[in-house]
Amino acid sequence: MARYIFVTGGVVSSLGKGIASASLASILESRGLSVNLQKLDPYINVDPGTMSPFQHGEVYVTEDGAETDLDLGHYERFVQTTMSRKSNITTGSIYADVIAKERRGDYLGATVQVIPHITDEIKSRIFNAANGADVVMVEIGGTVGDIESLPFLEAIRQIRMELGAQNTLFIHLTLVPFLSATGEIKTKPTQHSVKELRSIGIQPDIIICRSKQPIPESDKKKIALFTNVEERAVISSIDLKSIYEIPEALHKQGLDNIVIEKLNLTSQAKPADLSDWHEVVHRLKHPKKEVNIGLIGKYIELMDAYKSLNEALIHAGIHTLTKVNIHYLDSEEIEKNGTEALAALDAILIPGGFGNRGIEGKIKAAQFARENKIPYLGICLGMQVAIIEFARHVADMPTANSTEFDLHTAYPVVGLITEWTDVSGSKEKRSTGSDLGGTMRLGGQYCRLSMGTKAYESYQKEGIIERHRHRYEVNNTLIDQLTAQGLIVSGRSQDGNLVEMIELKDHPWFVGCQFHPEFTSTPRKGHPLFMDFIKAAIEHHEHL
Ligand code: GLN
Repeated sequence: MARYIFVTGGVVSSLGKGIASASLASILESRGLSVNLQKLDPYINVDPGTMSPFQHGEVYVTEDGAETDLDLGHYERFVQTTMSRKSNITTGSIYADVIAKERRGDYLGATVQVIPHITDEIKSRIFNAANGADVVMVEIGGTVGDIESLPFLEAIRQIRMELGAQNTLFIHLTLVPFLSATGEIKTKPTQHSVKELRSIGIQPDIIICRSKQPIPESDKKKIALFTNVEERAVISSIDLKSIYEIPEALHKQGLDNIVIEKLNLTSQAKPADLSDWHEVVHRLKHPKKEVNIGLIGKYIELMDAYKSLNEALIHAGIHTLTKVNIHYLDSEEIEKNGTEALAALDAILIPGGFGNRGIEGKIKAAQFARENKIPYLGICLGMQVAIIEFARHVADMPTANSTEFDLHTAYPVVGLITEWTDVSGSKEKRSTGSDLGGTMRLGGQYCRLSMGTKAYESYQKEGIIERHRHRYEVNNTLIDQLTAQGLIVSGRSQDGNLVEMIELKDHPWFVGCQFHPEFTSTPRKGHPLFMDFIKAAIEHHEHL
């Protein structure tokens, strides 16, 4: 039977519960235990797919095509287990199911209530996600004390009662602030947050304290005393240069031993082997080269919006021993003021995106990369933008566009498949658009690469599976006019109908992909496309 570790957060949000959970999971994995992770999100959206990146950060896409919380990205970067749509549940999805059951009459006339119907649904989803793992880590989003997270906390309280203390563990992550005015560490917020947790029937077994500096033993003692937690189980997690240092930092304080002992897994567990994390951190800290990458987006003030991308570039740096400096550049700025800011870059990356804002700036950036032979990686929208640019400036289609941005363009080089498969083919057909929820091509899909291309060179195989999240596709009916001018289609979908990857002849490294390679990049393995992109950037840098 699976053991469950529940991770709650206190004092403030954004403490890095996801990274702490993923780090602990990865230590347990290194000790020979199979692990799975799950995130419970208290908001009422069914999934984060329709939320603005300003609100929520990146939407992470799982192999099986679910749009999920970005913490799942951390999980996959730290452990070997692949997440699925079961790995992220939201209040919205719980209510949607309970209400559907109520409408069907499944509750046989009962009054449907938060307890037990909502909590039962939550519990069944938690048990359902175990997938045969020895340990399941369940992270509860939000902060203890929020109204929204109460049903989740009640559900995990009940699970403790049902499965017992040997099979369940509560870890509470809090902030321990440092007041510079008095030079003191403050434990009171932690005390209060645990008090709040205990008032709803949950006594934490372990407390992880996020702080700027190491927490002195005397303060740990105080926290232990006031929160009823063993002193050795008060763990400090200080700010580190890289998140990939966290597994080692937690292991050094004995966190995994305490967990294994409390969950009665001692006979099953082997000693921890964190040598691969050690190697990752060593490489990260000892780069031999340095490159400057421009990331042209419209959420530049918000690192979380490009979380996986940011990490994938760092991973490529780890594997090529390169310090990757990422410069976030605003596409609207380029639209207004031109491409001057791009001249000093070693490579240009245009990530995925939706909507009109800043699109002409991205097209200018793609043109700049093509004309000046600067390495270019276009991901999803970034590939579509490269196609539009090429059509306009090389293939004699001056007003080429995606129908996402110009419904009536004479050259819809990117559009909805229905727009060109419809035999009547009239432009009016384009005006209907589609629903925003659940209408995208999502999740892992097969792509066939053509030999002799940069794509093939990079992956070193013919068949790959990468994750998608988009509505629009390259228009097959216009692609021949582009390939005639030197655009290469280097990857196609399984049935050959859809363009999945493109590149340019006569350019050192200009690659576009319709999928999102950043979702499958991990620090320990890296990702071939990002590694080759960074290698191309190094070469460009050296030839400057
Ligand atoms: N907006 C484009 C589409 O829907 C690209 C999406 C993306 O970059 N993820 O096809």
